[in-house]
Amino acid sequence: MHPISLTDSFGRSHTYLRISLTDACNLRCLYCMPEEDTLVTPHAKLMQPAEIEGIASDFIKLGIRKIRLTGGEPLVRKDAGEIMKRLSALGAELSISTNAVLAHEYLERFKETGIQKVNVSLDTLDPEQFKAITRRGDFERILKNIYLLLEHNFEVKVNMVVMKGINEQAVCQFVAWTQKYRLDVRFIEFMPFSGNAWNRDKVYSSADMLDQIGRQFEYKKLEDGVHDTAKKYKVEGYAGTFAFISTITEPFCGGCNRLRLTADGKLKNCLFSAGETDLLGPWRAGEDIIPLILSTVWGKKKERGGRFDPDSYRENSENRSMIRIGG
Ligand code: SAM
Ligand code: SF4
Repeated sequence: MHPISLTDSFGRSHTYLRISLTDACNLRCLYCMPEEDTLVTPHAKLMQPAEIEGIASDFIKLGIRKIRLTGGEPLVRKDAGEIMKRLSALGAELSISTNAVLAHEYLERFKETGIQKVNVSLDTLDPEQFKAITRRGDFERILKNIYLLLEHNFEVKVNMVVMKGINEQAVCQFVAWTQKYRLDVRFIEFMPFSGNAWNRDKVYSSADMLDQIGRQFEYKKLEDGVHDTAKKYKVEGYAGTFAFISTITEPFCGGCNRLRLTADGKLKNCLFSAGETDLLGPWRAGEDIIPLILSTVWGKKKERGGRFDPDSYRENSENRSMIRIGG
C-alpha cells in the first residue's frame, strides 16, 4: 500500500508541481527545441483550462503547495490568462517560467493571480548571438520586459543555459549585470534531451564557471534551502545574486520535491524519467486519478530518472525533447 501523500520510496515528499501549458513556442532555442521537431500537439489533445484546474486540485489535495507554469512558452497559449485565474483560486503559490517575449501583455494578470516569481530564459547579452541561439530576434523586447518586470517589483530569475564553445564567455557579463539590478541569475549546465545534440564536451561545469567568476569578482556563498536546485552566491555589495544548477556534474536529486505534468496531461516523476503516466485520458473517462498519481510518485527513481550514470548520458538520453516535457 502507498501512503496517502506524495512520498516516494526514498522518503522524499513532493510539494512542487510544474505544469506545462503547451509544447509550442515563439523561440527555437537550440538546446531545447530540435530543429526538425516543429509539430505541436493539437489543441484538443492539450489539457483544457477546466481540466488543468481539476487535475491540479487533486495534486493540491495530496500536498502540492507550489505550482509553476511552464512549457514550451506558456504565454503563447491564448487561454493562459484564464488558466492562471483558475489556478490562483486553488490556494497554491503560483509562479511562471517564460521567455518573456510576451510578458508585457501579462503584467496585470500576473498581479491579479498572485504570480510574483517570474523566471526568464536568456542565454546571452549579445543580440547577434541571441539570434543564433534562439533562431529568432526578440532580444530587445526580452530585455525591456525583464526591466519592466523589475520595475513592477516581480522577483525575476534569469536562467542561462551555459554551453561550452557557444556562450560560456558571457558568464561574467551576467554576473556584472547583477551589480545594479535585483536579478537572480542562474547558470544551468547543458542537459541532454532528445534531439538537442548534447555531448559531454559541450558541458561547461559549474566548477569552471565559478573559477571564471572568481578571477573577476569577489563573491560569497549564500545559504541554500533543502529543496533548492540552485547553489547561490553573491558579489559583495551587488543588488542581485547568481547561482548554479549543476544537474550534470553535481546532481541534487536527494532533496528533489518536484513533479511534472506535460501539456498533454502525462505525469513525469523526474525530468529524466523514461516513463510517464497518462492522467488526462483517465480524467476524461471520469476515473479517479489519485491512485495513478500515488503510484507514479512511489516509482520515482533515486537519481536522474535512473536512466543514466554520469558517464553514459549520450547512450541513455532517450526522452522527450525539453520543449515537450516542460522545463
Ligand atoms: N519557454 C520558457 C523558458 O524558456 O523559460 C519555459 C520553458 S523552458 C523549457 C524552461 C527552462 O528549461 C529554461 O530556463 C530553459 O533554459 C531550460 N532548458 C531547456 N533545455 C535545456 C537543456 N537542454 N539544458 C538545460 N536547461 C534547459
Ligand atoms: Fe522556447 Fe523556452 Fe525552449 Fe527556448 S527554452 S525554445 S523559449 S521553451
